Amino acid sequence: MALTGTKICAVCGNEFKGSGNLCKDGYYCNDCEKKIRRVFQEDEEDYLSAADIRKKLNKYADAIAAYDSIIKPETCPVCGKKLPKLMNMRLLDAYICMGCAEKARDMLHTGYDAIGCMCLSEIRPLFEQAAVRGGRADSSGVFHNADALRIVYPLIRTLREVPGEDGYEVEYIDPLDSLSDEELRAAPALAEQRRAELEAKYGTHKAIFEVDKITKLYNESKGRRNYRNEYRIGGRVLMGNIVLRDQAVVKRAEGTKELLIRKLGNCQEYRSDLKELKEGMEGGLFVEAVLSFVYPGDILCID
Ligand SMILES: [Zn+2]
Ligand SMILES: [Zn+2]
Repeated sequence: MALTGTKICAVCGNEFKGSGNLCKDGYYCNDCEKKIRRVFQEDEEDYLSAADIRKKLNKYADAIAAYDSIIKPETCPVCGKKLPKLMNMRLLDAYICMGCAEKARDMLHTGYDAIGCMCLSEIRPLFEQAAVRGGRADSSGVFHNADALRIVYPLIRTLREVPGEDGYEVEYIDPLDSLSDEELRAAPALAEQRRAELEAKYGTHKAIFEVDKITKLYNESKGRRNYRNEYRIGGRVLMGNIVLRDQAVVKRAEGTKELLIRKLGNCQEYRSDLKELKEGMEGGLFVEAVLSFVYPGDILCID
């Protein structure tokens, strides 16, 4: 039996004095609390069982013990760039730059608090993704630039449910990540073949764009929609790159129409701040015209 004024820590089993901290199974000691603060986000442990807390403390025991001996390195261990004095982030066992922390946060769909409770070894594999590195190396060490392969392996757009909110966020899956080594090595030839097919079909152009949706844009003022002669032509770049002020040409039986691309956007309907749409990308071409001659399924030749 514990003596008066002492309690048994629910987490480590030692006797302790003082009020302690509460988890689902009772009070735990301040020594445990110090360790808990390293690996749990604020108040996260309040609703956890002592066994769950113990499990996590054991898992990270070495990193917790070494916590105070970690010194800031000169360079970010993820990207290799100089570690900024202020714009950096403390992980459980390392420091990384804020740029890498932000990428990790986005890839894990979590907050900085959660990232701060993790080890470098848990963060680093995320950066192996082809979309983050701009490509992938095959087993012989040859690096395949993603931009050159998007013509056959474009990013796959999916929607991710946002927990707790009645909404979805756009998320991209990179098919390059799941290619076998054999497929990856065959990809450049496949891309060339696809390029040749498209040229044979549509002729030689700077870029080819496939239309899937036309949206008329409007200004909203005092609850009234004022339509203007600006349209967003949504679709995908089948081949080549499109930049601002490129000319898009539609050929129909009744004649040829030219459109000046004034703005470019990604797949989000009303964004129009891109400077370039690369091969394989989904996006929108913004034009000002009376647009009664472009339809879903049309091919625009860009020159
Ligand atoms: Zn304890
Ligand atoms: Zn970095």
